[in-house]
Amino acid sequence: MDVQILGTAAAEAWPAVFCHCRACDEARRRGGKDIRSRSGYMVGETIKIDYGPDSSYHSLRYGLAYERLEHLLVSHSHWDHWVPEEFLYRKPGFSSVPESSVLTLYGNEKVFRRVDTVLSGEWERHRMRFVSITPFEPVQLAPDLSAIPLLAAHDMSEACVNWLLEIEGRRFLQAHDTGWWADETWEFLRTRPLNALVVDCTFGGIDRDRGHMGCEAVYRVKQRLEEQGSLAGGCRFIATHFSHNGGWLHDDLEAFFGPKGIEVAYDGMRFPI
Ligand SMILES: [Zn+2]
Ligand SMILES: [Zn+2]
Ligand SMILES: [Zn+2]
Repeated sequence: MDVQILGTAAAEAWPAVFCHCRACDEARRRGGKDIRSRSGYMVGETIKIDYGPDSSYHSLRYGLAYERLEHLLVSHSHWDHWVPEEFLYRKPGFSSVPESSVLTLYGNEKVFRRVDTVLSGEWERHRMRFVSITPFEPVQLAPDLSAIPLLAAHDMSEACVNWLLEIEGRRFLQAHDTGWWADETWEFLRTRPLNALVVDCTFGGIDRDRGHMGCEAVYRVKQRLEEQGSLAGGCRFIATHFSHNGGWLHDDLEAFFGPKGIEVAYDGMRFPI
């Protein structure tokens, strides 16, 4: 099964819409991997992680058939990851959704409240249902496919999670919108070696690890996971969720991360899991 990284920017995108800082101007000039949209992932064709403001653009750019989605895993309620207003347009009169199609959302209390308000509680009419998550408790998506919400260290006003997918014995972790994890998350990963993960690098060249992380902290995460045996052989370790405020363009990020065995994500990047 393939994972596709749909977007690799922090909340304001890169170039940021109204910004004329050096990093945004240079990204506009260079184009290519320096153009970054807001985050989201496809896992196979029926599972998506997060539904942010660039989701419609992603479906057009990568030819994604959202009408086939069965499971939507939401990491937290921040606007760059969760735009529930879009789901208003699943109801009759806006979309022809097949009788058999039901989309299941998985998220925390705040994620639920936002979408429930938008849908006026009319879940059946939108052919959707909601499953409330508890950190570290797996949800089963298919016979050999489960998703485990690990506790992130991000916005303490809600239970932000990092989704760990276990697919036929292999593991992919979405580890952004987090700073340095609390002990329980490190411990949980100790017995579950990862085959691929994407890690928060919002701060780029700025060395911080609270709420989000920068390049140095991403490298410290890799070292700690290695030390505790949480990286399987051949693990794809990928940095993502970049902000223009970090200042480092794709080439700068590759120059820093390349020698450390860390890949730099770009919009549309795809890999098997
Ligand atoms: Zn974010
Ligand atoms: Zn900028
Ligand atoms: Zn966030």
